[in-house]
Amino acid sequence: MTDFSTAPQPDRLPRRVRHDLRFRQLSVKSVQRVTPHLLRVVLTGDELEGFHSPGFDDHAKLFFPDPATGRLTLPTMGPEGPVWPEGRPTMRDYTPRRHDAAAKTLEIDFALHEAGPATQWAENAKPGDRIGVGGPRGSFIVPTEFDWHLLIGDDTALPAISRRLAELPAGARVVVLAEVDGPEDEIPFETRAALTLVWVHRRGVSAGLSPMLLETLKKQALPEGDYHAWVGCETGVAKAVRAHLVGERGANPKWIRASGYWRRGTAATHDAIED
Ligand SMILES: Cc1cc2nc3c(=O)[nH]c(=O)nc-3n(C[C@H](O)[C@H](O)[C@H](O)COP(=O)(O)OP(=O)(O)OC[C@H]3O[C@@H](n4cnc5c(N)ncnc54)[C@H](O)[C@@H]3O)c2cc1C
Repeated sequence: MTDFSTAPQPDRLPRRVRHDLRFRQLSVKSVQRVTPHLLRVVLTGDELEGFHSPGFDDHAKLFFPDPATGRLTLPTMGPEGPVWPEGRPTMRDYTPRRHDAAAKTLEIDFALHEAGPATQWAENAKPGDRIGVGGPRGSFIVPTEFDWHLLIGDDTALPAISRRLAELPAGARVVVLAEVDGPEDEIPFETRAALTLVWVHRRGVSAGLSPMLLETLKKQALPEGDYHAWVGCETGVAKAVRAHLVGERGANPKWIRASGYWRRGTAATHDAIED
């Protein structure tokens, strides 16, 4: 394994940026089924003014209306943080896929799975429906000056992967391993970077239980040089992928960001995977 304590450490460390926390009430402008398992909901509203999301893997909290009453509860900002007028609503983390300030739109891509209030809301969403959006309250800015980049994720990470591919400069080298159920769930990516794209198919195996992402990674030839690795998928899979990258593929732990975007059998989780 590479000894990173003695390796030269160029200034490639990511930067954290804080943002003022704001809560916005937006409404659905349109809904588009991108693939059988991916639904794009375009949100709009005057409250989008000032929305800022500079990090490709930023997340916003989505607040869902009470399905029984349709009532949407949002907090106000007090001096010590958010103040909730009544019980907190159901909330889940989602990536701002694309924000267009001029058009006042914010796109969120929902990976559809068997059950969950966020998924259910998206599947039933229609123009005019209301939703709350909190944040992003911070961004993690990953430099682009690496010899190459590795992005690994499942359906829930497609928005973040799309954003990273869109921002990487011409000439950057990037390898993407993206897991979806089948070929009909693949999406096009826009990038100026030199992209090696490997789609991994679960083929009906439940998400989070398929070994295919790790197995494919193990067989994948990777470029030489210093790389930044980003991983976003089910927590157990993300842990195994990170362990393989650090243990077997020379990944510098300082240049790897692995997150459990969801955890099998548990609702509303966000796990940062570290040593
Ligand atoms: C930083 C961050 C960014 C994210 N960005 C996105 C995004 O842009 N798009 C997106 O679709 N998701 C994204 N996610 C994942 C999303 O928040 C979770 O999948 C969330 O649990 C979905 O909420 P739910 O109400 O549908 O299901 P929950 O009520 O949270 O969960 C219900 C059940 O479904 C399971 N489950 C949850 N997600 C999945 C899944 N994807 N596949 C199979 N089973 C699942 C749970 O384990 C649980 O058993 C992100 C997560 C994080 C932490």
